[in-house]
Amino acid sequence: MKLSPNDTVAKCPKCGNNTEFEANSLQVAEDCCEVWVVCACGFDPTSELSGSRYEDTWGGVDNANIRMALDCWNDAIADEVHR
Ligand SMILES: [Zn+2]
Repeated sequence: MKLSPNDTVAKCPKCGNNTEFEANSLQVAEDCCEVWVVCACGFDPTSELSGSRYEDTWGGVDNANIRMALDCWNDAIADEVHR
């Protein structure tokens, strides 16, 4: 999806983008799905950070879940910077 320009989403450390993301959803348990966003360049700060993805029962990628996934993206980027 494409976001309008904003300063609430952390910039991708690889390419500086913070408006174009791909939303992903994966069922990880019977009643639990992980929802996360990947940068347009393919960078995924949550890929090596277990527990950093948003967990949802149904794993839908509606606006509310994407909002949560973007919060997780922000956290993961912050973590990345501090490592
Ligand atoms: Zn990027």
